[in-house]
Amino acid sequence: MTDHCCAAMTSRANARCDQHDDAYACPDALVDFSLAFQEYGLIIHDGGRSSVTIEFCPWCGQRLPESQRDRWFDELERRGIDPFEDEVPAEFQDDRWLSSARQD
Ligand SMILES: [Zn+2]
Ligand SMILES: [Zn+2]
Repeated sequence: MTDHCCAAMTSRANARCDQHDDAYACPDALVDFSLAFQEYGLIIHDGGRSSVTIEFCPWCGQRLPESQRDRWFDELERRGIDPFEDEVPAEFQDDRWLSSARQD
């Protein structure tokens, strides 16, 4: 379980439903937190996988951590991996890559 800026965000971002494994399929799900990108999205329930990335917490107003999406692509490129063509390593499918990525 990941801790977030406040209790409301923590419970929303970690919410799991008995009936829907996939948050995008669950009408009660509001927030999708991407571990790999460290991004928060408000889920748009249009039957697809759309979300709106948010920079501030809707509940406590705190600025959320910066998205790591660009670094994610940079880091894969540095390793010669094309995420659209090649298999993405397991550590890049959640937040493990962040601890092994070069800090610069
Ligand atoms: Zn549900
Ligand atoms: Zn918050």
